[in-house]
Amino acid sequence: RQQQSHCSGCGVKLQIGNPELPGYLPEAAYNREPVICQRCFRIKNYNEMSSVSLDQDEFLRLLSGIGEKNALVVHIVDLFDFEGSLISGLQRFVGSNPVILAVNKCDLLPKVTNWNKLRNWVQQRAKEQGLKTAEIVLCSAKRGQGFDRLLDAVSSLRGRRDVYVVGATNVGKSTLINRLISDYSDLEQELTTSRYPGTTLDSVKIPLDDGHYIVDTPGIVYPWRYSELVERRDLDAVMPVKPLKPAVYQLNAGQTLFFGGMGRFDFIQGEHQSFTCFISGSLKIHRTKLERADELYRDHRGVMLAPPSLEDADKLPQWQRHEFRIGRGSRSDVFVSGLGWIKLNGAEGAVVAVHVPKGVKVLVRPSLI
Ligand code: GDP
Repeated sequence: RQQQSHCSGCGVKLQIGNPELPGYLPEAAYNREPVICQRCFRIKNYNEMSSVSLDQDEFLRLLSGIGEKNALVVHIVDLFDFEGSLISGLQRFVGSNPVILAVNKCDLLPKVTNWNKLRNWVQQRAKEQGLKTAEIVLCSAKRGQGFDRLLDAVSSLRGRRDVYVVGATNVGKSTLINRLISDYSDLEQELTTSRYPGTTLDSVKIPLDDGHYIVDTPGIVYPWRYSELVERRDLDAVMPVKPLKPAVYQLNAGQTLFFGGMGRFDFIQGEHQSFTCFISGSLKIHRTKLERADELYRDHRGVMLAPPSLEDADKLPQWQRHEFRIGRGSRSDVFVSGLGWIKLNGAEGAVVAVHVPKGVKVLVRPSLI
């Protein structure tokens, strides 16, 4: 008997190579009837979504269909990697459809955070990226916080529309969709998946009670996020699992901080001042003299300056140095996508540099908190 080549659930081309890409099916499951991909299998049998991912080009092709539909778009971003996980250009694709920006992983910020200020910050940053938001919801899929507000926002903006959920990988999309499914769908009725017509078939439609759908799109893979570069075993080292404990360092110009072996921050010029590091607690911070930093890294990478291990460090791209002169105005963060940020607390005009693997997005932004 010839093996079936496409999923009977969503229509995606089946493959046995990579569980994280669309269409994955364990080889043994080809004998099951009906032949459906693992993602559809999970939805159908466990009422549960798992995540698959797509590269940027394929993803944009998929997004381009949304503008022509009457849709409510829920864009999930990771607060810890805001600039790295925001889909820039989303506005172009959604047309006049409303967008709810769900800012996930808020549990990672310290308890003292001023949430109104944070919401304004998010709104401002989204606006700078050209994204108009109908609603911004701060939430934590992990803690179940903000869900009621998100569900309220979805209900009040949905009208007679399908809900498209979009986001980068690892932002918490599966966790959130599973929650939407359990709140919205009629669990008596078996969940069926059907293809999203007229596209590359990589989205899964989950029917709601009223004839509309939640459409789950694959997670977009952004190559500039540290979390995409490191080995799986080092993911916890860069992606915090517990609330951040801001680490404050009083530095003089000419001092350097190493974040394990993941990156380096140099204070090159400026008055003595304090810097607050918002990085995963699993990365040990080493302070040293700037003039000794190159040598220290050469001699101790992979051992004292770890993770990553020597072997894994060799697999990452070479470090690239990014220098910034911090301008006037409000307080700034030096942000490293997927690794965290360093808040500058002192006088303006400081010169700093960050060293991280080539390709990782680094930028200066107004302080998050
Ligand atoms: P997806 O790839 O976008 O579907 O994301 P997942 O739901 O699989 O979550 C990715 C990772 O982020 C997992 O390690 C989750 O435990 C973690 N995660 C998801 N939501 C939250 C959250 O609200 N807070 C924190 N701290 N971690 C979260």
